[in-house]
Amino acid sequence: MTAKLIDGKAFAAGLRGRVAEAARRFASSHGRAPGLAVVLVGEHPPSAAYVRSKAKATVEVGMQSFEHRLPADIGQQQLIELVDALNADDAVDGILVQLPLPRHIDEQAVLLRVDPAKDVDGFHPMNAGRLAVGLDALVPCTPLGCLMLLQDELGDLSGLDAIVVGRSNIVGKPMAQLLVQANCTVTVAHSRTRDLPSAVRRSDIVVAAVGRPELVRGDWLKPGATVIDVGQERVEQPDGTRKLLGDVAFDEAIDIAGAITPVPGGVGPMTIACLLRNTLVAAHRRSGLPDPEDL
Ligand code: NAP
Repeated sequence: MTAKLIDGKAFAAGLRGRVAEAARRFASSHGRAPGLAVVLVGEHPPSAAYVRSKAKATVEVGMQSFEHRLPADIGQQQLIELVDALNADDAVDGILVQLPLPRHIDEQAVLLRVDPAKDVDGFHPMNAGRLAVGLDALVPCTPLGCLMLLQDELGDLSGLDAIVVGRSNIVGKPMAQLLVQANCTVTVAHSRTRDLPSAVRRSDIVVAAVGRPELVRGDWLKPGATVIDVGQERVEQPDGTRKLLGDVAFDEAIDIAGAITPVPGGVGPMTIACLLRNTLVAAHRRSGLPDPEDL
């Protein structure tokens, strides 16, 4: 059996198109486009690249992009003052502080300062708590994108056995919450899990968010399982080139799984699309409007 490829790039393009339409409607009724502020501290090259692509994608869907680039040696208090100013700015619906922050800054202190109503990354404990108890929340973008791909592929997820490998606050934990809400029976695995292969083998859905290239082997999978590979690590190849690898051994998994996301082109494009979606949702909620449909 050869697994179906789950085309995250195409799904993300469709989502961005729906966001653009809804953003146009919001702008015509509110006299302003939804706005996303992105804060970059220092020159960390991958972070600078993420911020550039987020700003470009924001403008492409007709939203306003506010970019704030701060020197690496900025003080924590100055950064917090910028967050406060963005919280108070009515043109800003979403605030994203690009991580990681330099060592001298307490990341949690900064993230806690972001107004939960503008926390489009969904990292504030208020949003994590709301997600946990099943209230409307701004949900972290990567797991939200994974859920959308799973529901698009499988429809109703009720009753399915799912495993999330990884328990980070950014991906693993919110992913598990979303799958529980979707009525899956969920196992959360991590570095202390005993016999990970057996736990994976019981699962209809496997979400791998570990950061260990090709950790999940093909023969760990239940035949026909749906596999969402969040991992993306650049690994040097014998010929000296660098290849982007996921957490699942793709060449093995393709013969066992029922459907699988490729790396790249699977989960990656969903993250920015969901960031735009969250910004639009934040703009609606802040204006007292119901959430836009179809997003
Ligand atoms: P993280 O914070 O480092 O968390 C990794 C998790 O994997 C931890 O919970 C860790 O367990 C677990 N783990 C480590 N080794 C393990 C092992 N041998 N067996 C089982 N579990 C193990 O990473 P993250 O931020 O969640 O990111 C994970 C991956 O997703 C990375 O490759 C990252 O680049 C990628 N990512 C991609 C996107 C995207 O847009 N596509 C977005 C975010 C992240 P412990 O808790 O026990 O340490």
